[in-house]
Amino acid sequence: VSATTDAIPFDLVDLEPDERAVVEKAREISVDVLAKNAPRYDIEAVFPAENFDAMRAEGFTGVVVPKQYGGLGLGPQAYSLFLKSLAKGCASTAGSFHMHNSVMRFLDVLGTHEQKEHYYAEAVSGKLFGSWGAEPGTSWAGTIALNTGYDIVPEGFKVNGAKYFCSLGEGASYGLLYAVATEKRQQANLEDVQFFMANTDNPGVEIKDQWDPIGMRATVSKPVILTDCVVPQIAQIGEPGGIRRIPSEFYGLGYSSFYQGIAEAAYEWALNHAQTRTVQPSNEPIGKFDRIQRKIGAMAVSVHQGALAVEHAARRVAHEDVDRGGSLLAVMKAKAITTVTALEVTNLAIDVAGGPGVIRGNPPERLLRDARAATLMVPAFDQCMETVAKNELGYATRELH
Ligand SMILES: Cc1cc2nc3c(=O)[nH]c(=O)nc-3n(C[C@H](O)[C@H](O)[C@H](O)COP(=O)(O)OP(=O)(O)OC[C@H]3O[C@@H](n4cnc5c(N)ncnc54)[C@H](O)[C@@H]3O)c2cc1C
Repeated sequence: VSATTDAIPFDLVDLEPDERAVVEKAREISVDVLAKNAPRYDIEAVFPAENFDAMRAEGFTGVVVPKQYGGLGLGPQAYSLFLKSLAKGCASTAGSFHMHNSVMRFLDVLGTHEQKEHYYAEAVSGKLFGSWGAEPGTSWAGTIALNTGYDIVPEGFKVNGAKYFCSLGEGASYGLLYAVATEKRQQANLEDVQFFMANTDNPGVEIKDQWDPIGMRATVSKPVILTDCVVPQIAQIGEPGGIRRIPSEFYGLGYSSFYQGIAEAAYEWALNHAQTRTVQPSNEPIGKFDRIQRKIGAMAVSVHQGALAVEHAARRVAHEDVDRGGSLLAVMKAKAITTVTALEVTNLAIDVAGGPGVIRGNPPERLLRDARAATLMVPAFDQCMETVAKNELGYATRELH
C-alpha cells in the first residue's frame, strides 16, 4: 500500500492549489454558516444577508471574475464543486448566487474592457448582480418573444416592462435586463435581444414584495417592474443578438452541480439518521434494517450517478474548445440526471426519516421542496431530453437560448 496525500480530499486532487483553497473555504462556510441559517431563511423567505456577508468576506462575489480584474477566476471544474458545496448548506443561497455568477460570465463574453473594469470592480467589492430574463407572458421553453421594450433617449436607453422570478430580490445592486426595441416587443427573434445593466436603486425599478413559494424561498425571486427606467450608455451590454454569443454550458453546469448538492445533502442527512436513530425495543440503529439499507443503497447509487455526470460535464466544459457540441450534450445529460437524482434522493430521505421527515423545519422536507423546481429550471428536463434525443437521432439541436 503506497502512501496517500490524506490532506487533499479525492474530489479536489485535480484542482490547482488556489482553486482548491476556494472550494475548501466554501465547504467550511457552507457547514458553519449556510447550513445553520438555512431553516430560518427558509421559513422567513427573506434575502439571506448573513450568508452573503460571510461569502463576501472571502471574496466570493468575485469567484468567477477573471483574476486580471481582481476576481478569484475559478474555472468550470472548481466552480462546479464550489457551487455544489454551497447548495449542500443552503440551496436558496447557492441558486441565487449562481445567477450573479452567470451575469459575471455574460460580461466576460459581451462586456467591453471599460464595462468589465466598472462592473467587475463592483462585484469584487461585494455587490450582487441579478439576472432579469423571465416574464409572465414569455416562455423560454420554445419560441421566445419578449415583452420588455427599450427606446433610445439622449441619456442612453429607456426601458419599460415587467419581469418576474428575479432571484436575489432587493439583495441585488444590479439586474441584467433582457429587452428588445419597443417596436419589436412580442415578436420572436433572439437577434433583437439586448442586455442592459440596471442599478436596483434606479427610480424606474420597482422590486415588488411578492414571494411565497413552496421551495427556494430564500432566493427571494420577486417581480420587478420597469417604468421609464433610464440607463446610461455604459449599461448597454453587447449588441442586439449578443445573447447568441454566450455559451450556455456554464449556466447548465451550475444548475447540475446545484441539484447534485441538494441530493448529497439529503443523502448525508439520511445516512447519519440511519446510523443514529434507534426504535424500541431494539438498541440498534435503524440502519440495521434491510428496508432502510435498500433505501440507503438506492440513494448512494443515485448520488454516485449524479456525481459522475457532473464531474464529466465539468471536464467537458473545461475543455469545450476541443468539442463544443460534446460539452453542451454532457451538460444537458448532467442536468437531466441530477434532476432525477435530486427528486429521487430527497424523496427517499423522507422515507428514511419517517413521519418527522415531513414536519416543517426538518432538513428532508426543505430539501424536497427546494429540489422540486429542478424539472423547470433552465435547461428544463424536457429541454434536456429533447436535445439529447435530437442528437441521437441526428437532427439539429439548438442552444439553450
Ligand atoms: C426559484 C426560482 C428562481 C428563479 N430565478 C430566476 C432568475 O433569477 N432570473 C430569471 O430570469 N428567471 C428565474 N426563474 C424563472 C425560471 O427561469 C423559469 O421559471 C423557467 O425558465 C420556466 O419558465 P416559465 O416559468 O416561464 O414556464 P414556461 O416556460 O411558461 O413553461 C410552462 C410549461 O409550458 C411549456 N411550454 C411553454 N412554451 C412552450 C413551447 N413553445 N413549446 C413547448 N412547450 C412549451 C413548458 O415546457 C412547461 O411545461 C426562477 C424560477 C424559480 C422557480
